[in-house]
Amino acid sequence: MNFQSGYIAVVGRPNVGKSTLVNELIGQKLSITSHRPQTTRHRINAIDTQENHQMVFVDTPGIHIGNNKAINSYMNKAASSSFADVDMIIWLVEIFKWTKEDARVLEHLGKVDIPVIICVNKIDKSSSVDKILPYLEMLGEKFQANEVFPLSAFDRSHTKQLRSLILKYLPEQDPIYDEDYITDRSQKFVVSEFIREKLMRNLSNELPYDITVEIEKFELDGKMYRIAARIFVDKASQKSIVIGHKGEMLKKIGQDSRITIEGFLEAKVFLELWVKVRQGWSDDKRALASLGYD
Ligand code: GDP
Ligand code: MG
Repeated sequence: MNFQSGYIAVVGRPNVGKSTLVNELIGQKLSITSHRPQTTRHRINAIDTQENHQMVFVDTPGIHIGNNKAINSYMNKAASSSFADVDMIIWLVEIFKWTKEDARVLEHLGKVDIPVIICVNKIDKSSSVDKILPYLEMLGEKFQANEVFPLSAFDRSHTKQLRSLILKYLPEQDPIYDEDYITDRSQKFVVSEFIREKLMRNLSNELPYDITVEIEKFELDGKMYRIAARIFVDKASQKSIVIGHKGEMLKKIGQDSRITIEGFLEAKVFLELWVKVRQGWSDDKRALASLGYD
């Protein structure tokens, strides 16, 4: 068999586990994850090259239903465009759950004619195997997929099996990316996303997701990276939540970020964070564009 390569879009409603699965499939943390539904905002390609194949996973923001803020329409566009121009689709659903947002993803899938693998995620949450079958039957009535595969994204043996399934459908062609590439995004982009992840994970749910990170300095100084980033929030009250009592919260976010960034860059990192109020940014198309959400 010749070399196989292709784009695999990982789609599904918010919070179903797409970014977790992509990280586990490539064996490296690249996509950011949290229990909050709007963590992934940008499309990111995660590339895994082996001796005889290259898988390019396209992690996407989930399709969001609800308010009409510019950021939401940006995310929906990023999500639905990922159904085009890929070689196959992994559609994630969550065991025992079926929501309006899953139905919305299904509408998009009705229009594609490439292989689709449905992955039923989070089966570690289910105590009995025989309860899984009726759920799979319900899915089967809604959509004829090439494969239906129950798994837990955290289970290495499951992700290994999933990789074999993908190889059944991956086209025979030359590699798309050079073998050293692990993502199509810049280091700066990945670093700013890691900081946003720590914000999402550390801050309470009262803080809206309208929070963004801009890298102002990214320098290699000998063997060490010097990085400075600015965190943008919507209101002064949010700024004090991010900074926290005596600066404790910002310190914690900085420490968590530094550890993840050091793992990614494989080098020591000196990280500085600032918080700045930029009013109404998430609803302002121009402000969005200035922050890279084109
Ligand atoms: P995304 O919005 O679809 O990208 O979802 P994330 O990857 O950010 O994951 C959302 C939440 O689900 C996170 O808290 C993950 O830790 C959790 N999660 C993902 N996969 C699994 C799984 O197989 N089992 C369980 N129990 N939780 C999972
Ligand atoms: Mg995600």
